[in-house]
Amino acid sequence: MNGMAQIAQVLVDVPTMQTNEPYSYAIPEQFQDQVEPGMRVTVPFGHRVVSGFVVGISNQSQYDGQLKPIAAVLDLAPVLNAELWQLADWLATTTYAFRITCIQTMLPNLLKASVERFVQPTDKISAAERAQYFPDSSSRAFDVSKLPDETLAGLLKLRRAGKVTVTYDVQDKATVKTTPAILPALPTVKLQEIQATVAKRAPKQAQLLAYLQTMGTTPVAQAQVGRDAGVSAEVIRTAVAKGWATKQALEVYRDPFQQPVPPTHPLTLNAEQQTAVDAIDAAMVEHRQQTFLVEGVTGSGKTEVYLQSIAKALALGRTALMLVPEIALTPQMTNRVKSRFGHQVAVLHSGLSKGEQYDEWRRIDRGEATVVVGARSAVFAPLHDIGIIIMDEEHETSYKQDENPRYHARDVAIWRGKFHQAPVVLGSATPSLETRARAAKGLYTRLALAHRVNDHPLPTVHIVDMREALKENGDGDFSPELLEAIQTRLDRQEQVVLMLNRRGYSSFMMCRDCGFVLKCPNCDISLTLHMDTHSMKCHYCGHEEPIPRICPNCQSRKIRYYGTGTQKVEKALQAKLPAARILRMDVDSTRRKGAHERLLKQFGQHQADILLGTQMIAKGLDFPNVTLVGVLNADTALGLPDFRASERTFQLLTQVSGRAGRAEKPGEVFIQTFNPEHYAIQLAQSQDYERFFVTEMHMRHQGNYPPYYYAVQVTASHEEEPVAAKAMYQIVDVLRQGLSDQAIILGPTPKAIARVKRKYYYQVVIKYKHEPRLKAVLEQIRQGAQKAQRGLTITIDPEPMNFM
Ligand code: ADP
Ligand code: ZN
Ligand code: ZN
Repeated sequence: MNGMAQIAQVLVDVPTMQTNEPYSYAIPEQFQDQVEPGMRVTVPFGHRVVSGFVVGISNQSQYDGQLKPIAAVLDLAPVLNAELWQLADWLATTTYAFRITCIQTMLPNLLKASVERFVQPTDKISAAERAQYFPDSSSRAFDVSKLPDETLAGLLKLRRAGKVTVTYDVQDKATVKTTPAILPALPTVKLQEIQATVAKRAPKQAQLLAYLQTMGTTPVAQAQVGRDAGVSAEVIRTAVAKGWATKQALEVYRDPFQQPVPPTHPLTLNAEQQTAVDAIDAAMVEHRQQTFLVEGVTGSGKTEVYLQSIAKALALGRTALMLVPEIALTPQMTNRVKSRFGHQVAVLHSGLSKGEQYDEWRRIDRGEATVVVGARSAVFAPLHDIGIIIMDEEHETSYKQDENPRYHARDVAIWRGKFHQAPVVLGSATPSLETRARAAKGLYTRLALAHRVNDHPLPTVHIVDMREALKENGDGDFSPELLEAIQTRLDRQEQVVLMLNRRGYSSFMMCRDCGFVLKCPNCDISLTLHMDTHSMKCHYCGHEEPIPRICPNCQSRKIRYYGTGTQKVEKALQAKLPAARILRMDVDSTRRKGAHERLLKQFGQHQADILLGTQMIAKGLDFPNVTLVGVLNADTALGLPDFRASERTFQLLTQVSGRAGRAEKPGEVFIQTFNPEHYAIQLAQSQDYERFFVTEMHMRHQGNYPPYYYAVQVTASHEEEPVAAKAMYQIVDVLRQGLSDQAIILGPTPKAIARVKRKYYYQVVIKYKHEPRLKAVLEQIRQGAQKAQRGLTITIDPEPMNFM
C-alpha cells in the first residue's frame, strides 16, 4: 500500500528442527498486499524447499540485508480464522508444544496433505476477468508449481474480492458424491418466448420453463427442480434434450450419518431441568462466559438439558458445540442431537474419510452447519459466534490427548467460551474431582439433577464378595448370585449387560483369598509387575521389591496377577447358560467399521439376551429392556498404579450401573469384587457421588495429589537406556535448581512399560502449588533437549492423566 516491500514471518515445518521462532522471507513484488497470516507457503530452507505458515507480515524497512523470497503461495485464503489462530498460540504456550504442531492439530487432515486445489469463479466475477482466468473451463486446477506468478497474484486479488472460491480435491475420487443438477441453458427472454409457444399443448413443460426463468446461475439438484417446479424427471429430460436446460454433476456433501433419524420435539422439562436450562440461557442472553457443572445422576435427563440449551443458542442466532467422549461409542447420543436439529448438525469423528471430514469442516466454516457434535478434536471446529459449548461425560480420559499437543478439551472449551463470551456446560453423573472441586470453590456453577426422570428409582446394587464365591466353587468369573439373577432375566425375557473390566489387565498382583494388593510403602499406590526384572516396582518413586510368593497379609499362596479375557468368559458363560443368546463386544468384535453400531442395534432389537463387553459398554447405552447389570471384576482398575484408581473405579461402576432399569422395569446391579470394603466400591453401591467426592478429596489431600497439587510429567526417551536415564537425571538437576523447595519432585523412574517401540522411557513428576518459575524452567528444558543427544525425545505433559 505504501509502496514499501513486505516481509512475511514464516513458521517452517521441519520436524527435526522445530522452533517457535518464525523466519523472515521477502514477499515477491506481485504478491504485495495479497499474502495474509494463516496462509501456507513454501520457502527455501537450507538446501531444500519446505512448507510453512505465514504468521505475520511486516515492512521491509525494519530489516536490512537480503532476504530470500517466498517460493510459492499455497493458499488463496487463510486456512484458520483469527480465533483459531490465537488459540494455536495459547495451546503452544500452555501445553509446551510447538506452534506448528498446534496449528496442524487444528486443521482437518485434508489440509495437512498436499492435495490439488481448484479455483472456481463466483457470480461476482466480471466477464473480462472470467475470460482472462477461466478461458475454457469453469474451474482450474491450482497447482502452484505450474501456475505463473502473475496468474497466482491475480487469483489472490480475485479471491479477496470474493470473485473466486477455492475447493480442495479429495484424493480418493470414489468418495466424491455427485447428483445430477440443472441449469437454464438460455437467457430468460428466450425461455419466456418458448414458454408462450408450448403453453397450450404441453402445460408441464411450460411449468418447467417458468421455473427455469426464476433460477439464478447456480445449478440446482434435479430432484429439487422436479419438486419445486412440480414436474416429473421425464419433463426435465425433455427440456435438456431440447436444449432449454443443461445437466451437470453437482458435488454433494458426503453425509456421515446417512440413516435418517425421526425428528423429536422438546420434552416438557421437570423443575430441576428447567432451573438448569434457565441458568445456562441467562448466561447466553447476557453474553457471558460462565462454566456450569451439570451434575446429574444417570437417567436424570441431562441430554434434554443439553438439547434445549442448544435450541436457545440457535434461537439467539448463535452456534453450538457438543463434545462427546468417543463418537463411535455414543451413536445414541449423536442420533438424539441429529433427531432434534436435523441438517444443521455436523458430526466430526475419526471414522470419516478425509473428504468427509473436510466436507463437514467446510459446512461448519461456511455457517451451513450450526451444531457440531464430535469427539476431542471437534473442540477446534471452525464455528463462528459460538453460543454454547457442551462437554458430555466431562470426566472421561479420552478428552485428554496423549500426544503433542497434550491438551485437555475442557481447557480448550473454556478458552473458546471466553473468546465467544459463551457458557460452557460440563455434564456428568460422576464429575472429575478437579471439576467438582472447582464447583465447590465457586469457579464453576453447579447445577444438580438429583432425581431420575419420572422418579424411576436408581437400581439396587449388590456387592458380591468373590473371596467367598471362590471358596465355594472355585470359579473366579461368576458368582452363584449373579448366575441366578441372569437366569431370572432370561425367564422374564429381559436383557442383561455384563461388563468385564480389562483396564490394568494382569499388571498387578492380588491375593485371591483376601483381596490384598501389594502397594508401595512410600506412595500408597499399587506396585506394578515387571516380568523383565522379575520385580514389583513403584512408578512414582522408584521403590522396587521382589515378587511375593505368598500373600503378605494372609499368607495364602493364591497370590497371582489378575486378569481374564472376554472370549474366555463368553465360553464359560455359554457353558453355564446354554440357552442364552450372548453378544460379545470388545476391541476384537468391534474392529470393523460400523460393527459397534450393528451390535448395539441387534441388542436393541432383542436379538440377544446378554451383552458381554469391556468398559466400552459402560457409556451412554439407553435400552429400556435391560434390568440387570453385572460387573464381573470391579477390582482391576483399583489395582492400577494411578492416584486416580479409586476415582476411575467409582466412575465406571456408577456409569455401568446406570444402564440398568432406565425405563418402567426396576433395575438391579451385581458388582463382583475381591475388595468389598473399599470405599470406591461401597460408595458405588450407594451411588453416592457426593460422599465419594468428600472421601476422595481427603485421600488426595493426604497424598498431596491433584486437585490439591498441580502436576507436570516430563518424560525422556531414547533407544539406549543410559541416554534416557542420564537425560532425566540432568533434567531433575535443572528442576531442583530452578524450582522452589515447595515443589515435590518424584523420580526419575523408568516408566511402567519401560521399553516401547525400541525406546526406553524415564520420567519425573513434579507436584506443585505455586511455582512462578516453572514455565520458564520447562521451556529451557525443552529448548535444550533439541540441541542435546540425537534421537532423544523430551515430552512435557501438563496434568497427565496417569503417572504410569
Ligand atoms: P442422562 O443423560 O442424564 O443419563 P437422559 O437424557 O438419557 O439421561 O434421559 C433419560 C430418559 O428420560 C431418556 O429416555 C429421555 O428421553 C427421558 N427424559 C428426559 N427428560 C425428560 C422429560 N423432561 N420428560 C420426559 N422424559 C424425559
Ligand atoms: Zn491374602
Ligand atoms: Zn512409591
